Amino acid sequence: MKNRNKKEHIELLSDLTALSGTASHEQSVSKYIKNFVNELDSNKILSYDNLGSTIVEINNNNKVKLMLSAHMDEIGLMVSEITDNGFIKFITIGGWLAQVMLAHEWIIHTKKGDILAVTGVKPPHLVPQDQRDKVFPLSNYFLDIGCSSKKEVLEVGVALGDFVTPNTKLKQLSNPNYIMSKALDDRAGMGVLLESLCDNLNTKNIDIAYVFSTQEEVGTRGAKTSSYLVNPTLGIAIDTGVADDYIGGNPYQQKLGEGVQIVLLDAGTIPHQGFRNFIIEIAKKYNIPYQEPYISAGGTDASKIHLNGGGVPCISLCVPVRYMHSHTSILHYEDYLNAIKLVNAIIENLSSEKYEEIMKD
Ligand SMILES: [Zn+2]
Repeated sequence: MKNRNKKEHIELLSDLTALSGTASHEQSVSKYIKNFVNELDSNKILSYDNLGSTIVEINNNNKVKLMLSAHMDEIGLMVSEITDNGFIKFITIGGWLAQVMLAHEWIIHTKKGDILAVTGVKPPHLVPQDQRDKVFPLSNYFLDIGCSSKKEVLEVGVALGDFVTPNTKLKQLSNPNYIMSKALDDRAGMGVLLESLCDNLNTKNIDIAYVFSTQEEVGTRGAKTSSYLVNPTLGIAIDTGVADDYIGGNPYQQKLGEGVQIVLLDAGTIPHQGFRNFIIEIAKKYNIPYQEPYISAGGTDASKIHLNGGGVPCISLCVPVRYMHSHTSILHYEDYLNAIKLVNAIIENLSSEKYEEIMKD
């Protein structure tokens, strides 16, 4: 199954980002994985934790079991109130900046089907001059679905607790390596895992658990429950990381197209140094470009995996993304490809002996 081409890579990424699922509403994402895996190998059995994390294992009863984790949930909203005049109030699920939320399209996922919505905003005509540069408070935000009463909103099927996601589809920009979409965080990580699964169905040197976790954006909850079930000896979270190579970006200068990110540390994890050294060695050996960011706020699934049981050597590998947590994040295809290459090279070079060496370091 090796040698899936660029077109197939981008088609998969397009499919994955088009799926909708906020924390605890990842069912359609999980279903997609099930179908993908069944088409790949109809004998493969998937397993699940009780929070919905979806697990595909390559099992050979090896001593070394590598858990690769990418989260299925995307940031979004939840319907919290329907007003008498037919507008919809919401609470945010995951980290949103108020600045990026106004005048955008959204989909409300109701039991009766999907409903198009827009975050309404006052026109400049009604905003006093001294307030035009200010961020409007999030508590004033609402969704407009084109209804004039609460009754009408309820009739079309909107209910409290419905989840809401951005309404954008993947697009390639003028340089087609620049790929823009919602939910690259972390459907890009999922894409890396699924591509790696295609390449490693017959891997024998180690056991691998490909884990598609739930509820990462609200506190890496699925990573905790799934790592308990998987009980890995090594762990890697595959996620997206911040690229800041734009006007006004931070000075870390993580650049699109300059390589996969081998994270130095984030708010939830300091990587196991032996495992980190091994991964850097592999990246060098295979000429895979990499960057080394530190992330002062936020973490990945690694924050839970590394605390499982008696502890699991763990690290985060990230695909850099501009404008994370918005309708229009951008990644570079080469970084995505390099993440797939690095994961596959890590798998190829692991063994019981290598594991012992890593643990001594
Ligand atoms: Zn993420």
